[in-house]
Amino acid sequence: RIAYVNGQYVPQNQAMVHIEDRGYQFADGIYEVCVVVGGRYWDMEGHLARMQRSLEELQMTSPMDMRALKVVMAEVVRRNRLKDALVYMQVTRGVAPRNHAFPPEGTQPSLVITARRFNFDQSDEKAKKGVAVISQPDIRWGRVDIKTVGLLPNALAKEAATKAGAAEALLVRDGMVTECSSSNAWIVDETGAIITHPKTNEILGGITRQTAIACAEELQIKVIERPFTLEEAKAAPEAFLTSATSFVMPIISIDGAQIGAGKPGPVALRLREAYKARASRG
Ligand code: PMP
Repeated sequence: RIAYVNGQYVPQNQAMVHIEDRGYQFADGIYEVCVVVGGRYWDMEGHLARMQRSLEELQMTSPMDMRALKVVMAEVVRRNRLKDALVYMQVTRGVAPRNHAFPPEGTQPSLVITARRFNFDQSDEKAKKGVAVISQPDIRWGRVDIKTVGLLPNALAKEAATKAGAAEALLVRDGMVTECSSSNAWIVDETGAIITHPKTNEILGGITRQTAIACAEELQIKVIERPFTLEEAKAAPEAFLTSATSFVMPIISIDGAQIGAGKPGPVALRLREAYKARASRG
């Protein structure tokens, strides 16, 4: 595998970051994950726009302009000879002697891009069965709308889910479901409307969430952006999650309680198909 690291393409097993990189010491960095399906990036503009926003919110300078970045993104996929891939991009504030305050102006941000093969057929297989999730307390900071590499609470929640044999953790703050550890959470109500937490500082504004909303509007499915409780989710006829790597994934149980008929619901499955059709258009 070939990685892009600060201006060079290097064999990934030889790629290194400095021990005083601020990403390593302070989690002072941001990232994006996007997918390439059949040789094409899905929702690329959305991911790049969010990346730009994350950088701005943290007053970080971009390591390169977005046009050049697109060239590198394409080149990483090409050099790894991938058709279906997951691409990881990370920007940190760069290397400087350890000090909480920002390093001197002109410190070069670090940019790393890696890609690996991703099997989307497996995702389709999973979607046919649906996934189990568990609830976990949302112990994250107040700006999870910024896609920072500070993911320890997310990792702890995902580990708890994995130990429980579940695919994801629904994060709950003050009784309300915010999102999942690495995806956005949705429920369907009795009328067939879909409900998800509004885009505030308490969730990451998923690019898949955004595209799913556009798909729902096309399908004339009503979208309601409001918080919902864990109890409401458990009693919902359907639930699902969205992310770049899982698309629209039906949820069939929460904390062991069956959702709906205990199999993927019709609204989630319709949205999944619509999402795949739309995202593949670019
Ligand atoms: N929430 C969190 C906390 C995430 O990490 C992710 C995945 N990056 C998402 C939501 C979904 O975002 P996207 O649809 O852009 O993958």
